[in-house]
Amino acid sequence: IFDALADLAALAIERIQLVDDLDRARMAAEADKLRSALLTSISHDLRTPLAGIMGATGTLRDYHASLSDEDRDELLLTVQDESERLNRFIANLLDMTRIESGLTAPNAGPVDLADVIGSMLRRTRKLMSRHHTTTAIPHDLPLLKLDPVLMEQVLFNLVDNAAKYAPEGSEIRIEAWTDGPFVLTRVMDEGTGIPEGDLERVFDMFYRVRKGDHVQAGTGLGLAICRGFVEAMGGTIRADNRPDRLGAMFTIRLKTPPAEAEKPEMQR
Ligand code: ADP
Repeated sequence: IFDALADLAALAIERIQLVDDLDRARMAAEADKLRSALLTSISHDLRTPLAGIMGATGTLRDYHASLSDEDRDELLLTVQDESERLNRFIANLLDMTRIESGLTAPNAGPVDLADVIGSMLRRTRKLMSRHHTTTAIPHDLPLLKLDPVLMEQVLFNLVDNAAKYAPEGSEIRIEAWTDGPFVLTRVMDEGTGIPEGDLERVFDMFYRVRKGDHVQAGTGLGLAICRGFVEAMGGTIRADNRPDRLGAMFTIRLKTPPAEAEKPEMQR
């Protein structure tokens, strides 16, 4: 009996190792696929702004004498905008890798959400010039323990998407409110919304919603970064379609820290 049991055990172990090896091989294949998709996407995202910068600097150099002041300003602005885009993309990638590898925990200061939203809106003023932005943020929101840089990036990505996927002249609305021990922040647009079956998948890396037979332009990284950052701050983020009208809405839920987190003016 002992021999038979030992044989069985040996067989089972072999089986487990076999499954293990298969799993490992599958995981390695998936990691390879992900790595090459990442490289393709990164090269594309680096190339697009670089092409803009090279085009603008080329024109500035070749036609310097014949350019009007406005043309020159316009080209310099392109260089500046595209450099900022590059910088942001690289910073995003670095943040994402750092957080994923656990190298940096996000800062967790007591932060006034209204300040973060205000700073994000100042940064996106140009981007949002073709939309109508409104906010509803109560003055008595409790302070949150979060990393303002990460939170601003999350809101930036959401607003950037809203501007990308909703028509010119439509409203982009940012709302915040408290719900028990949570503060909720919501970015809403009046675009096409997201097919029900894609609501969860839009947060996957490189996932883009198919429109007819083509995939929409973009990197598919923005929302993955949003989820990564929000979760790193201990919160959750979800996508829904607006129940009242056309459009998508993204809701971030962050826990308020206990007691001491009150606004300075309320402590006076
Ligand atoms: P990207 O916008 O660069 O493709 P994201 O990760 O930001 O990548 O978004 C993933 C996909 O989710 C987008 O390709 C788009 O199809 C969909 N999506 C994101 N935000 C919105 C929105 N506000 N309205 C409609 N679809 C959206």
